[in-house]
Amino acid sequence: MSEKTGDKKKSRTPMPEQPPAVRAGNFDEVALGYSKEDAIAEASRCLNCKDPNCVEGCPVNVDIPGFIKLICEEDFEGAIEKIKATNALPAICGRVCPQESQCEALCVLGKKGEPVAIGRLERFCADSEREKGVSAPDPDIPEPTGRKVAVVGSGPAGLTAAADLAKLGHKVTIFESLHKTGGVLSYGIPEFRLPKEIVKQEVEYIKQLGVEIKPNYIIGRIKTLDELCEEFDAVFLGTGAGLPRFMGIEGENLNGVYSANEFLTRVNLMKAYDPNYDTVVRYGKHVVVVGGGNVAMDSARSALRLGAEEVSVVYRRGEEEMPARREEIEHAKEEGVILRLLANPTRILGDDKFNVTGIECIKMELGEPDATGRRSPVPVEGSEFIIDAEAVIIAIGTSPNPIIFKGSEGLDQSRRGTVVAEEETGTTSKCGVYAGGDVVTGAATVISAMGAGKKAAKAIDEYLKEK
Ligand code: FAD
Ligand code: SF4
Repeated sequence: MSEKTGDKKKSRTPMPEQPPAVRAGNFDEVALGYSKEDAIAEASRCLNCKDPNCVEGCPVNVDIPGFIKLICEEDFEGAIEKIKATNALPAICGRVCPQESQCEALCVLGKKGEPVAIGRLERFCADSEREKGVSAPDPDIPEPTGRKVAVVGSGPAGLTAAADLAKLGHKVTIFESLHKTGGVLSYGIPEFRLPKEIVKQEVEYIKQLGVEIKPNYIIGRIKTLDELCEEFDAVFLGTGAGLPRFMGIEGENLNGVYSANEFLTRVNLMKAYDPNYDTVVRYGKHVVVVGGGNVAMDSARSALRLGAEEVSVVYRRGEEEMPARREEIEHAKEEGVILRLLANPTRILGDDKFNVTGIECIKMELGEPDATGRRSPVPVEGSEFIIDAEAVIIAIGTSPNPIIFKGSEGLDQSRRGTVVAEEETGTTSKCGVYAGGDVVTGAATVISAMGAGKKAAKAIDEYLKEK
């Protein structure tokens, strides 16, 4: 092995972070980002493979070796331009994508050591552009086609579809039910993982492409989908999966029981953590979060930062099986969140004023693998135990809000409540209507929603050309 190749096998450049004891008491961003020197050092680990696997692992096919090479040449503006050619939200993806199971999982360096830190480098390029106030040159937008497209929902799926359609010369209007743009990026993922200023700036870039955004506009109530179809040449539905699921156990209607959506919306969108806002969020000394995904980790870490003394996460499988990003689990543990694994709630307990006082759980053990390949949890008879709690946050999943189906003749819905759409094009059963992101797949990831928005934009463009 050459010395040069041997060097590449070194560990990845560490990410500077706020120390756990400090960050557990504030809502500032945990990861501080690479310096120029860190970024160049990390970029120079890349082997610049002739036939790179990493690009295939990225749902929006960013030219990964291409932008990494430009970082090595210290051409940071060139690097961000290359990223933005296929990814309209690089500062967001660099922060929240599960890279360990996507692009980085396919990096050849990962076979014998640590893969190139692709996400951190993507974040570096986007951040250095923002800090300098330099906007990468906009792509050449062709002459207006005269075609109008409505995009419903301003989450990653809607924003990506809107950006790509605008780049093709179509007039795009986004309808968003909330007062803020960004979907889960704004109301779900907390400030300490994704500062809202960054979401705002990436949305600005999309506005610069000529996209119009109409907030406080619920499709299915203010206007129906059928009315949009009459007004626009095509419609993209990116309405996400914002309807919380509950467990159906005793005590779920007690005061102090939240869906993670409600809890995080109060904290993020309504800024309950900021003393200058009078948003109420009741948490008490002991908080129990139920679930094992990113939403559960975000809820637990937010509760800790609000001032709860003890925050536990109850999850029915083991740590290996937790669907949250590895980094979030590690960060949560470092900050003091207690993982109560192989446990499942059986009922929530309350006092005579209907306030939560605790949660009863049963121990679980792992049995045979289920259809997803994960071992199924089985209750251990007679092993019930109680955890004291003044607040219980349920983070066990969500499904699409059915309101979009009101006044939408001919739009097929699955038994899970999702919109039925073709995976490769987003084509739905309703002519001229396309869909993608969580509204089609159920709760998934930012980048998969963006990938779906991209594919649908391409299909819409072809449909408009043929129309
Ligand atoms: P959304 O982001 O849900 O956006 C849908 C938008 O449509 C919303 O703004 C909604 O208000 C609007 N809308 C809905 N109905 C209507 C209507 N009728 N009319 C008008 N507007 C409407 N993924 C990751 O990859 N990494 C992470 O670290 C991660 N962490 C997460 C943490 C939390 C707390 C949550 C909740 C999710 C997380 N996810 C993460 C998942 C990821 O955020 C979603 O998969 C992604 O946002 C889905 O994008 P979307 O565009 O399909 O929908
Ligand atoms: Fe670089 Fe890894 Fe991609 Fe190869 S697979 S080009 S080493 S990031």
